[in-house]
Amino acid sequence: MAMDSKTLMELADTWGAHNYKPLPVVLAQGEGAFVWDVEGRRYLDFLSCYSALNHGHRHPRLVRAAKEQMDQITLTSRAFHNAEMGPFLQELCAYAGQEMALLMNSGAEAVETALKAARKWAYRVKGVTPGEAEIIACAGNFHGRTISIVSFSTEPLYRDDFGPFCPGFRVIPYGDLKALREAITPRTAAFLVEPIQGEAGVVIPPAGFLAEARRICTEADVLFIADEIQTGFGRTGRAFACEHEGVKPDLMTLGKALGGGIYPVSAVVGRRDVLGLFQPGEHGSTFGGNPLACAIGREAIRVIQEERLSERSAELGEWLLNALRAIPSPHVREVRGRGLFIGVELHPEAGGARRFCEALMAQGLLCKETHDHVIRFAPPLVIGQDQLAWAVQRVAEVL
Ligand SMILES: *Cc1c(COP(=O)(O)O)cnc(C)c1O
Repeated sequence: MAMDSKTLMELADTWGAHNYKPLPVVLAQGEGAFVWDVEGRRYLDFLSCYSALNHGHRHPRLVRAAKEQMDQITLTSRAFHNAEMGPFLQELCAYAGQEMALLMNSGAEAVETALKAARKWAYRVKGVTPGEAEIIACAGNFHGRTISIVSFSTEPLYRDDFGPFCPGFRVIPYGDLKALREAITPRTAAFLVEPIQGEAGVVIPPAGFLAEARRICTEADVLFIADEIQTGFGRTGRAFACEHEGVKPDLMTLGKALGGGIYPVSAVVGRRDVLGLFQPGEHGSTFGGNPLACAIGREAIRVIQEERLSERSAELGEWLLNALRAIPSPHVREVRGRGLFIGVELHPEAGGARRFCEALMAQGLLCKETHDHVIRFAPPLVIGQDQLAWAVQRVAEVL
């Protein structure tokens, strides 16, 4: 007999480390923008696995691509070539408008790879004294969970008890051009930035910040690295969020939706004179670039283009933003967003976003608080307008 939600949650609680605090729902099935729990209750997914599910759950084309590849070959290691990797690299570079790519698995690994590439470039090309390269990051950042990445986190929850940390990082306020100019020294290798800070609560920098930061970096011979892991692949209404300001990064970190919602696939894409510095043996990954990942990644990009998911995100996102802004509620401080990437910030007196997410869950809408006071809305980009309208009614009731 199948186990009920309560039993399953108790098992996870007993046997699993408590590094998450999930809403009390156990999901057993998904299709498009919908998921079902083990008791058969249906919910609309308004989180999309932090934008890893831009294509929705089990997109038929992605499931087919995965199954077809599983019937051919799934893993080869990079000790040999595989037939999917070359075409995937080419198609990914074309989609991202970049010259070269390096494949990994998780987002954090892509960020680590970009940091290594930037340091190597600083020593080999820019001429920084060995061991002295610096990378500038922004307060409120989220780039992953490894020790080197949390070394420059400003969130105590992500850092406390995990030191000692890695040197070589500097943090400036997000959106502060003056601070960026002042932080750059001859030792600066790169500026690492999220074009919109997702985990911080869908924080959009001041207009012109990305374009001017790009200009400052070019002038100072500093690499501009955009972390588009959460904002990429149509989420903000453009293929990549940097495009809103016409910015082309030197390196981009990609992940999440690149795996089409079925498999972890990440990459760094960027300039040939930077990524081309890696020599055999200097960096790698057992699973990075495996043929299953590549087959899924190829189809994920094709689906985004052929189903015009970026354009859908732009159109539906504007509609959703306006609909949410029209909800009268004493609890709401601000509704902000780009495309189907929206944060509803509540007043501190509202008692935290968590209880609103729990109330929305009871209404059949799944979303998650980010930090204490922001509800993030990021539905799959394949969602229909009628489903969005239904969700807005639930949000209006709860708020
Ligand atoms: C999710 C995320 C990461 C880390 O990705 P993982 O796959 O969880 O390692 C890095 N940067 C940003 C902006 C993210 O949203």
